[in-house]
Amino acid sequence: MIQVQLKLRLRPAQERQLERWLYRLTGVWNWAIRKLEQDGNGGVRYSLFDFKALLYKHSTRVGMAAKALSGMAAQAHTAYGRYRDGIARRPRLKGRRNRLNSIPIDEGREVRGQSIRIPVLGVVRFHKQEIPDGHIGQMRLVKRASGWYLCLFIHADPRAVPALLDGEVGIDSGFTNLLTTSSGETIEHPRELEAAAVRLAQAQRGKRANLAARINERIGNQHRNRNHHVSRRLVSENHLIAWSKDRTKNIARKFGKSVSSSSHYQLRSMLAYKSRIGGREYIEVDSRNSTRTCSACGALTGPTGWHGLKVRFWDCGACGAHHERDVNAAQNTLKIGLRTSHERRREASSGISMIQDRDVRPRETRDRFQEPR
Ligand SMILES: [Zn+2]
Repeated sequence: MIQVQLKLRLRPAQERQLERWLYRLTGVWNWAIRKLEQDGNGGVRYSLFDFKALLYKHSTRVGMAAKALSGMAAQAHTAYGRYRDGIARRPRLKGRRNRLNSIPIDEGREVRGQSIRIPVLGVVRFHKQEIPDGHIGQMRLVKRASGWYLCLFIHADPRAVPALLDGEVGIDSGFTNLLTTSSGETIEHPRELEAAAVRLAQAQRGKRANLAARINERIGNQHRNRNHHVSRRLVSENHLIAWSKDRTKNIARKFGKSVSSSSHYQLRSMLAYKSRIGGREYIEVDSRNSTRTCSACGALTGPTGWHGLKVRFWDCGACGAHHERDVNAAQNTLKIGLRTSHERRREASSGISMIQDRDVRPRETRDRFQEPR
């Protein structure tokens, strides 16, 4: 499945029409959630088909695409179902503070050249972009600060990143640098993001909500672009990538913006899927003791605690090796990653899973805890 986003070139009338749809669909969403809740309390459960049928002929009354209405109903049905099954939180109602900003279209259409036909809205043009071949499964119209986009979900296999080198790398995710690799390379936070943060603060102080939204969107785009570049290069150069998984929540709480803004989560998921498609191995390793351990002799002689975060260089008290703090941590990560990879391969060849063996409780007790909620 590939997701493609097209920037639309709407006529003013089409844009006004979409704004009206958003308003209508906000009502539909809220109605759907309340309906599912109240009828659910009364013991009535709708199948998706029956629930969509409640909106039969509603589209002609409100003058919008039936596919958008049924798409919205399906979305609410799924969201509420996930809440009822205890998988997700209760879906929030939409309104001024929690705006609806996307319109699902229940069914994909064929793209012809630089335009696409959307029911009721008509032919919509978009900025030229390469679209991969494949059946379009679903569509979604998304409103962003910079305008309207069309999201296509295409049934096709993404292309693998070409393998250039056959290295192996350990990565320590820091906060002063974005990343430090076991070979001693540091990848820094790009400067333009800091400049954008200054402009964002100015816009927020000036209470210019639209400008702030535009800058925020731009920062997000820059992050994504940077993460795509970094992950592509790492996957093309290494057959094994080990990532030290921090308990980032604690650190973010202590340090605020700088950690959450480094968007490690996105980078990790990119590394994971690019590795999977390219036939590379991606392993996440617990970061515990990765800074404390000396990568030369294995003694726990390194800096510790919040105080130790200031220490950039240190000497091992046991073997005398000189370390740069983050490079040492990345080298430890690579070591653990190599060990994990080796263990996995051995398990795969012997056909026994270590993970199952670790559960020492008797079978009956184990099953009792696995009952569905
Ligand atoms: Zn040492």
